[in-house]
Amino acid sequence: MFIDKAKIFLKAGDGGNGCVAFHREKFVPMGGPSGGDGGKGGDIILLADKDLHTLMDFKYKRHYKAQRGQNGQGGNKKGKDGEDLIIKIPVGTVVKDAQTGEIIADLVEDGQRVVVAKGGKGGKGNAAFKTATNQAPTKADPGEEGEERWVELELKLLADIGIIGFPNAGKSTLISVLSKARPKIADYPFTTLTPVLGVLQLDVDDFVVLADIPGLIEGASEGVGLGHEFLRHIERTKFLIHLIDVSDFAEREWKEAYQIINTELGNYSEDLLKKPQIVVANKIDALSDKSKLQEMREFFQSRGIPFVSVSLITREGLEELIDTVKRYKREWIK
Ligand code: GDP
Ligand code: MG
Repeated sequence: MFIDKAKIFLKAGDGGNGCVAFHREKFVPMGGPSGGDGGKGGDIILLADKDLHTLMDFKYKRHYKAQRGQNGQGGNKKGKDGEDLIIKIPVGTVVKDAQTGEIIADLVEDGQRVVVAKGGKGGKGNAAFKTATNQAPTKADPGEEGEERWVELELKLLADIGIIGFPNAGKSTLISVLSKARPKIADYPFTTLTPVLGVLQLDVDDFVVLADIPGLIEGASEGVGLGHEFLRHIERTKFLIHLIDVSDFAEREWKEAYQIINTELGNYSEDLLKKPQIVVANKIDALSDKSKLQEMREFFQSRGIPFVSVSLITREGLEELIDTVKRYKREWIK
């Protein structure tokens, strides 16, 4: 699983100061204290938003400050409260205090919010200090300081696309060619059947997470080492890239390879089999009979299955593959 991380500094608004003032009016000699209270400083609120998918923005802007409260005024006028600052973060972000590591919030639902830095209270104006024995207090409180802290945001990325195919089809190569390893790879709890993950950057702010699913075929139907968590992980993928070795050295004929993998997939999970696939013929640099590609194209197109042929070594067809992923991402992922 990928973990995207960012560290940001938050400073909530300071409270406004209380005011010292006295009531003045013609013919009212001892008007009394009339200094208003300061306004409260703005809070900083994190708001989970389902339309955000990365912590990218927080790598550019790291400091956030909410508005301070206004000072109190004469005539018993309270200062205006500072506006809260609402920062949108992706659903699934864990928020930790950067100093203590303590988890402040785990925002798992769209619209969920948490106050991460409290604005300071406004100071009392001198009107608030009037007592029976002190009718003309000259004392007012300053506003409290707003909270400030560094927090760490942590977003777990789930794979959007699973890559399936026989051993040697080129799954690992595909991941390494397509991905830019932007987020860090965290420990994955499947030691023997570790799915490798990668990120395919489609645009500056658009990417998909790819998961190489080696274990699926190699031992899936026997359930070798495949935990519940792993299953859940790949079942969350939105579609699959089905990689087939079409080189002269391939161990199987393409149609047979394609069908065996799908049978395995279905044995493993009906849901997985139902996911849309992009079929990719790989290693065309080592294919002498190119008419095979035409045959494959017709076979898959007649079934409404997108088909692309590539060489991950020479990179022929790679752009077309990326464009195809882009197009179907739009279609298959909301
Ligand atoms: P995986 O088992 O599906 O993960 O397959 P790998 O990515 O490990 O690739 C298996 C072998 O095929 C490696 O030796 C790769 O270098 C090789 N390979 C991958 N893509 C191509 C390709 O487009 N052309 C050729 N000739 N070899 C490739
Ligand atoms: Mg591999």
